[in-house]
Amino acid sequence: TARLIDGKAFAAALRDRVATAAAAFTQAAGRQPGLAVVLVGEDPASSVYVRSKGKATLAAGMASFEHRLPADTTQETLVALVDRLNADPAVDGILVQLPLPRHIDERAVIARVDPDKDVDGFHPLNAGRLATGLDALVPCTPLGCLMLLRDVHPHLAGLEAVVIGRSNIVGKPMAALLLQESCTVTTVHSRTRDVMAHVRMADIVVAAVGIPGFVQPEWIKPGATVIDVGINRVEGGLVGDVDPRVAEVAGAITPVPGGVGPMTIAVLLRNTVVAASRRAGLAVDPSL
Ligand code: NAD
Repeated sequence: TARLIDGKAFAAALRDRVATAAAAFTQAAGRQPGLAVVLVGEDPASSVYVRSKGKATLAAGMASFEHRLPADTTQETLVALVDRLNADPAVDGILVQLPLPRHIDERAVIARVDPDKDVDGFHPLNAGRLATGLDALVPCTPLGCLMLLRDVHPHLAGLEAVVIGRSNIVGKPMAALLLQESCTVTTVHSRTRDVMAHVRMADIVVAAVGIPGFVQPEWIKPGATVIDVGINRVEGGLVGDVDPRVAEVAGAITPVPGGVGPMTIAVLLRNTVVAASRRAGLAVDPSL
């Protein structure tokens, strides 16, 4: 059966390296790296995420600025806050928690964030930088997946990778990252005619679908590495996008919970220190 990829332990080690780098930044720059998180409305899941992001930011020795706005906040008020954070020298990273209430134009807000403070990596300029091989701020979840994959496969070049899902948050940046690592990359999605035919070829499968237990054991090439991005709330707890029986066929697999999930916040903190270093003209710690 598959080796379990311990995302929780990897994320804890990454958070330690981030804390060391944050302390070095504070020493060199005379101030802490700062992350601003903006939450509009009272969505309970988003509220929990924002709270854990704030706690993790402080624990890493960074400054946390939390902005909670009411659900009926106007586009103008939100954009004005983003503008203030863009101009604030103490803020290195800006994260606007998604989803935003329906009356707000999410794309316009994302595009308003200073690309050099865009620690979520959702700004079109960062997507373009990633696609063209420039220094980009990269979305946290797929970058976390890549870190776990590099740990399992020191040589990713030439491997067949299949990404299931094409969202701007996970699937598309994941495919771009794997392509940059010289994998042979296929993206399958809701309109793909035969998902299984593609997955069967893959040395690496990244599932970001949002359907509990979607990926079946018969689809998996024996020994393949499977990264399960899915976080689905079902009766009895959280489950991934990969059927647990896949562990009987795969060579290595991320569990849910304890796989990709813990990586996202750790990479967010990492991106904040990277953004702070670049903004201050300091070298980026290579261990990040
Ligand atoms: P999304 O809904 O934006 O995208 C899902 C993708 O799956 C779409 O591109 C769609 O084309 C594809 N898809 C849907 N049905 C399919 C089918 N039958 N066959 C093949 N492809 C199909 O979701 P997302 O934001 O990319 O998130 C995906 C999953 O990852 C969710 O479970 C989400 O909760 C989870 N997630 C986890 C983290 C984390 O670990 N921190 C972060 C983001 C998302």
